[in-house]
Amino acid sequence: MNMKLLILDRDGTLNVPKDDFITSPEDWVPLPGALEAVARLNQAGWRVVIVSNQPGIGRGLLDMAVLNAIHTKMNKAMSAAGARVEAVFFCPHVPDDACTCRKPAPGLYQQVAERYGVSLKGVPAAGDSVWDAQAAYAAGCAPHLLLTGNSEMCRNGPLPPDLPPGTCVHTDLQAFADAILNEKTCCLA
Ligand SMILES: [Zn+2]
Repeated sequence: MNMKLLILDRDGTLNVPKDDFITSPEDWVPLPGALEAVARLNQAGWRVVIVSNQPGIGRGLLDMAVLNAIHTKMNKAMSAAGARVEAVFFCPHVPDDACTCRKPAPGLYQQVAERYGVSLKGVPAAGDSVWDAQAAYAAGCAPHLLLTGNSEMCRNGPLPPDLPPGTCVHTDLQAFADAILNEKTCCLA
């Protein structure tokens, strides 16, 4: 049996997004309820990994030492909430690099599959952007869109265009955790 693995986006999914990128530990502020949602998933045996575009690295806005410091702060906040993230997979590139890991390309998800030696078929993957859903779908995951961050404006309006077929939509990470833990069917037709 496949391990219980969940893949989450970072900015706008776990933490408050910032238009000009998260470039210091002070910038990393969890969204309300997000850490508790991860904790509840962990308690039910779900292992959580993060996949994140970090083009600020390619642009020279932050370096690896700062990224590591940001993740140290994140991991401490997780730990204080009884939550744990196993690993962070990130794309450091800018669009002109034409890499295969920048979402909506599925490369980061494929790195997860290789690292853990698992099939991604049906693995839930959640994020706040259409790109997250598209990358998840391309990798064979079950895409979940959260109406936080980039998609928060969709709470009172139409969903973003170009969502992959079968994308499940949730108000936030708490609602996503509820759906996973209750094995709810939540998918769009
Ligand atoms: Zn990349």
